Amino acid sequence: MFALRCSAYLCKMFDNSERTEIGAMGEFGLIQHLSQHFEVKNSKTFKGIGDDCAVIDCGDHFGLLTTDLLLEGVHFDLSFHPLKHLGYKAISVAISDIYAMNGMADQVVVGLGLSNRFSLEAVEELYAGMQIACEHFGVDLVGGDTTTSQSGLVISMSAYGRVAKDKIVYRGGAQVGDLLVVSGDLGGAYMGLQILEREKRVFLEVPNMQPDLEQYDYIVGRQLKAEARKDVVELLKILDVKPTSMIDVSDGVASELHHLGKASGCGFHIYEEKLPIDSQTIDTALSFDLNPSIVALNGGEDYELLFTVGQTDYEKIKTMPDFTVIGYATDVTSKNMLRTKSDNQFEIKAQGWPDSQ
Ligand code: ADP
Ligand code: MG
Repeated sequence: MFALRCSAYLCKMFDNSERTEIGAMGEFGLIQHLSQHFEVKNSKTFKGIGDDCAVIDCGDHFGLLTTDLLLEGVHFDLSFHPLKHLGYKAISVAISDIYAMNGMADQVVVGLGLSNRFSLEAVEELYAGMQIACEHFGVDLVGGDTTTSQSGLVISMSAYGRVAKDKIVYRGGAQVGDLLVVSGDLGGAYMGLQILEREKRVFLEVPNMQPDLEQYDYIVGRQLKAEARKDVVELLKILDVKPTSMIDVSDGVASELHHLGKASGCGFHIYEEKLPIDSQTIDTALSFDLNPSIVALNGGEDYELLFTVGQTDYEKIKTMPDFTVIGYATDVTSKNMLRTKSDNQFEIKAQGWPDSQ
């Protein structure tokens, strides 16, 4: 309704005379575009934008800094997401990026946007979940900010951690021939969400019908209460394995492979038959007429760790039940390829946020 007159001293960073749709740029294109004019000025800023965390030179170790935003209606639906689980998940999501750098999380700060729709008891539930996560992961909640929101619940979570300088692992670093490994199993969180959304639709039509989610307990749990893989970082240390590259699986393996490949300058070949998928995920995907392998590749929100190791480390990891070798790094020109169970080959496109390939 009114235009803000800019002062002359506000230099013009961008020279766009026409309207550009953000959706057409993709998430990475947008971040790159917005951040291109920000130079690193402080000598202690060791690495800025581009990895799971920013890296700060603290002398004898590196500090790791990361932030995540969770918005009601975008990242969670309070009609089926219990606030206690949400509090736990918010901490997990933030510190998962620190584990993705092979580090340990120490502190979190929480920004909250609340409307008067929320009672004290509701916010207490959210914080009870955060407290359980802080205890479980050994993290201190050391601050935050609280404000009113007119667009539902907003949770902004920032985390700080540390890693020994010689142990840090970046997204870039995979070498041709390295083995591609994933922890845990894939696609469960996505199928859990499909179940919860289906039951919500049923409930809206027949309000007296209470859903029976018992047979979906594992996948629903994967969606509602994500578990950051601190234990994987601890296990890698015990095994004396330092991955050559690593990322956490927030948007789905297909998208994360794209990030690892882009940062490392390589491609990946993966085998459909190797994808670790829980039987509950498989059964539920099939009942929705979905291909379980596609769910595993594109589902997202698994918060597993996806990493590469040199072939010489194979002996150390091969008997670990929680690690699955799903493929290997190839020359960049080979792109990211999936070899199917029927021995066909398909290029893996990153799905993630709009057009992120
Ligand atoms: P992740 O999924 O691991 O949280 P993202 O894909 O959200 O990572 O972000 C990729 C990189 O871009 C990170 O280094 C992150 O700090 C940076 N980034 C994301 N959004 C912004 C933004 N709005 N401004 C500047 N940097 C950003
Ligand atoms: Mg990440």
